[in-house]
Amino acid sequence: MRKRKCTACGEVKALGEFYIHRRSPGGRHAACKKCHRADVDARRRRRRLEDPADFLRRRRAACQRYARTAKGRAAGAAAARRYRRTAKARARRAARIHGARGGHAGTAGHGPGTRPPAAGQDTPGHSEANT
Ligand SMILES: [Zn+2]
Repeated sequence: MRKRKCTACGEVKALGEFYIHRRSPGGRHAACKKCHRADVDARRRRRRLEDPADFLRRRRAACQRYARTAKGRAAGAAAARRYRRTAKARARRAARIHGARGGHAGTAGHGPGTRPPAAGQDTPGHSEANT
């Protein structure tokens, strides 16, 4: 098995412990996976502190890029399938069916159009006048 010395921690490790990087001479990163990841994490953390808005923008962009890949789409479909089985999803579905039947009239009914107090206020006055 071929080995390589990590430029960051100095440890000699198996080639499998280095990420593949086609543009570098050995076809692998100079730092081992552990060091490379630590470096990436540190850089990400620093960027997050320096410009949180940019960090979120990048993360969202990466997420959208992933959602367009075959793997991302499969993961999204699987998550949707998982969600549809939950009680919350069932409740939402039931609410939507209920709402579709009533339509917009259902919400309009709660508006100022139909309010009985006007008639309720009127009756005592009439009965007082009559007696
Ligand atoms: Zn290392």
